[in-house]
Amino acid sequence: MRRVVARLVPCCEIVAIAALCAGLVVQPATATPPAWPQLRPLAIAPQLVSPRGRAPSDDLRARAVAETLRTRSAVVRAEAAAIREQARATRPLVLPPLQRHALDELRRSARGAVEVTMRRESGTPRMIRGDSLERAARARAGRDPAADTARAFLRKRAALLKLDDPDTELALQRSRRDELGRTQLRFGQRHAGLRVWPAELIVHLDPSGDVDAMDGASVATPAALDPTPAVAAASAVATARALVAGAADAKIGTPELLVYTGSGAARLAWKVFVPATLQDQWWVVVDAQSGGVLNAWNTAQDADFAGSGTDVFNGSQSIHVWNETAGSFFLADTSKPMFNAGASNPPDPDTTFGGIVVLDAGNQPDSNNPQHFPDLFHLTSPTGASPWRPQGAASGPNVADGVSALVNLSRVYDYYLNVHGRNSLDGAGGTLLAVVRLGHDFDNAFFLSENNIMAFGAANRYAGALDVVAHELTHGVTHHSANLIYQKESGALNEAFSDIFGEMVEAHVTGAATPDWLVGSPPAFSAPLRNMQNPGSLSTSFGPFPSKYSQRIETSQDNGGVHLNSSIINHAYFQLVQGLPNAIGRLKAQAIFYRALTTHLTASSNFVDARLAAVQSAQELSVSGISDADVQAVRDSFTAVEVFDGPGTEPPDPFPGTQGADSTLFLRFAPDPGAYFLGRREIQSDGAGGAFLSTFDVKPKRPAVLGDGSEAVFVDSIDGLCFLRTDGTESEFCDPAVSNVVSSVAISPDGKLFGFVMLDSLTSQPENLIRVIDESKAPPNDLVQFTIEAPAIDASTIATILFADQMDFSADGRLVIFDALTRVGFTGSGSGAADLEVWAIYALDLATGSIFTIVPPERGVDIGYPSLAQTSDIHIAFDVVDQVSGDGAVFAGNLDTGALVQIAPLAGAPGFPAFGIPSYSGSDDAVLFSVADGAANSGVSLARQAVAADRITPTGAPTAWIDDADFGVIYRRGSFVPEPDATLLAATAWSAVAILARWRRARSRSARGSEIRRRPRAF
Ligand SMILES: [Zn+2]
Repeated sequence: MRRVVARLVPCCEIVAIAALCAGLVVQPATATPPAWPQLRPLAIAPQLVSPRGRAPSDDLRARAVAETLRTRSAVVRAEAAAIREQARATRPLVLPPLQRHALDELRRSARGAVEVTMRRESGTPRMIRGDSLERAARARAGRDPAADTARAFLRKRAALLKLDDPDTELALQRSRRDELGRTQLRFGQRHAGLRVWPAELIVHLDPSGDVDAMDGASVATPAALDPTPAVAAASAVATARALVAGAADAKIGTPELLVYTGSGAARLAWKVFVPATLQDQWWVVVDAQSGGVLNAWNTAQDADFAGSGTDVFNGSQSIHVWNETAGSFFLADTSKPMFNAGASNPPDPDTTFGGIVVLDAGNQPDSNNPQHFPDLFHLTSPTGASPWRPQGAASGPNVADGVSALVNLSRVYDYYLNVHGRNSLDGAGGTLLAVVRLGHDFDNAFFLSENNIMAFGAANRYAGALDVVAHELTHGVTHHSANLIYQKESGALNEAFSDIFGEMVEAHVTGAATPDWLVGSPPAFSAPLRNMQNPGSLSTSFGPFPSKYSQRIETSQDNGGVHLNSSIINHAYFQLVQGLPNAIGRLKAQAIFYRALTTHLTASSNFVDARLAAVQSAQELSVSGISDADVQAVRDSFTAVEVFDGPGTEPPDPFPGTQGADSTLFLRFAPDPGAYFLGRREIQSDGAGGAFLSTFDVKPKRPAVLGDGSEAVFVDSIDGLCFLRTDGTESEFCDPAVSNVVSSVAISPDGKLFGFVMLDSLTSQPENLIRVIDESKAPPNDLVQFTIEAPAIDASTIATILFADQMDFSADGRLVIFDALTRVGFTGSGSGAADLEVWAIYALDLATGSIFTIVPPERGVDIGYPSLAQTSDIHIAFDVVDQVSGDGAVFAGNLDTGALVQIAPLAGAPGFPAFGIPSYSGSDDAVLFSVADGAANSGVSLARQAVAADRITPTGAPTAWIDDADFGVIYRRGSFVPEPDATLLAATAWSAVAILARWRRARSRSARGSEIRRRPRAF
């Protein structure tokens, strides 16, 4: 066989392994070192797209294999699903190659560290931050340098954003330079002239004009989307009208045709506004291809919001009113800095610009649940003092609600102006309009964000409840900034920010260090609506208000719980101001949250976005006295409510390292009957030596293990396909229908994809095909085959792949890396030896059928046994063996950079090639490989070489791992190597679940003839 018996050295001479020594010798290289191979980074690897690469596979034997795999793995996958679900929320995301290289490019061009977090559902950046991501553009006549800078950044980062052409796909909506000297440029996404909604990006420039951050909620270019609607606008309107109660005669304007991204994949849709009644102001999104309703929500904020009784309170207030003529005063405040006197003709709201106007509904319509506005009247006074009465009424009581509304709207305006420098709700001096005494005994207040109208019922003193008024008006601030969609998490954020600033306005007015944290404070309300300090002290019909994420209420009611789950974020804010040991007080906290709302959050933002936005805002506010400790407090406040950091994207660990000891699957030679059997070592149960696992003998190939360590897949001694539970609870399952068929097999970490190479039924040689079974597809589309061809490497090399052998799937099943026996015509040098056969390493892109040359063929050396790292997508270990001397070496490389390091030299002999068959440890801190060991029955034991954090540089000396063992592969029970959500994300990653042992070299094939029957292990 291929092994050479080691030169015997006394154990004690090998200091590094003395403690474990059991006869193992790790050989120094004593003979000719093998040629140093080249590692081609994936981005520049020679590539061949074969027109006949991918085809349906209709081979009956392959179908039989598929059936076996399908039956068997259904159980396995069900078990893995639970674990996968757990890991899903926190696991980092893996970028596909194009995005990864785009990110690398960004990193290289930036001055310092670049931090990127990704949006899992879309695979696009959620936030990018770092110094000078793009230098400020030079000022040019007629150009806006800020826009030029942002555009240049977006253009260069197109691949990272998954946009084909950012210049045409992103429309600049707003640009604003703030009080910190920073500039925010908000872009909306477009496709084929249509709005892609809700999809936005905000590019942030530091005071010097360089890009230092981007917040994103964009999607990949929906290139495949047909922008021609199959459903007419009128039909969409009819659908929307039918959906909303009371909308039969609603005035519905022209709906907007857009690309809707709120329900996963991009859909062409009609967005229809249905203002059925005052409290039923719905947006309905209708699929423009199918006519189905994609989404619908009510934007009348708090319309269905039940308050409770309040005391009457209304002292004498100083107010500014409009003096129309002598003896004629109106409840309209034109004293604010926003008032545009030149353009205005008060007091009518239509002709008052930058005022606060209060109108009276006079307790009409006669309903405690008004559905429309009645005729509205100004409130007037002949003296500018109470009583204030409806215009034209010569007698009657003072309309105190009007006075209170004016007072409180004025206070809210003042708060935003004085504390945050915001000029009215829209930031542009827009008039505030209040309607008081709406309906008869109407016990509610609401805000119409589409028209910026604040309406108050008169059953209670809503108009006098400052925190509630501030809450409602903050909806207007949100509407004109983040514009958080009033549904589910974004809607709960919308509510939370209103609660937060309701309390902040209240504290600002009272001057208290902290507010009372009760939304709906006494005396306006006898029972508060929400309690930010102790959310659970108040209950909803769903139970107590949640105070952390695990308590969130999942419901379709209340627009998906916008008033219910808001308490999670409310409570985080309370923690930040006052609750945490390192709480920072309201002044700092409100600055941070205001900045997050107005400069970082976008329409579809969720709780994680809120965390990231708050942290980023705090960091930007360092110039205003926010310290690093304050930033940490922001993180702590979200952590306190279980809203954690978003998924990171990047190495060092694209996949989370798994806790627990490394367990090992291996093959062990049994002298009786003289064959290999599958073995296992789990330290707790098997001891240092490990134990036999399989009942029958197996092919000398490395087994594959599922990502959760539960099940092994391997080829038995009669070329049959077998499964075996690694916990040893049952003996292996080998389907007799697929014996004498399979040459090698691989399995994706989630067990969904199988790759296999079959034996030709006539020649018994492996076929030049990689067949892949995708169990997520129904037969016959589940089974495809790829003809393996070699990309041209350079002019002097013509290579022909004879067959593939050992395969390894990327984490999402996009790529298969494999070694293949390659016939090469080396024409460049003088030996004249044409048509040599050597092994080399390739990768197959399952989506495109492209084949990449990763480690090109080299004259006279076999390069094989590729194995990817377990927590990284870019690190690979493999063997290089000199065909003549038999000497070899294990190498490890980086597929991004091409860096290559020799991990361990291995001494062989002519006819006895030294293959290490390497694989990575569970956390990639070591590479496992086989070494000659004269004391072992098989002459081989497993050794372990520690590697540095770069995963390729050896550190220290190798140590013994398992004696008398070969073809080792590490797994961790209960872990799962996670994959990105392949249905949503074309991410490509490389995982490291080790695959099968391989059928090795022509010279070792001679043994095959004797292995025609399976043999049981002798016990
Ligand atoms: Zn609200």
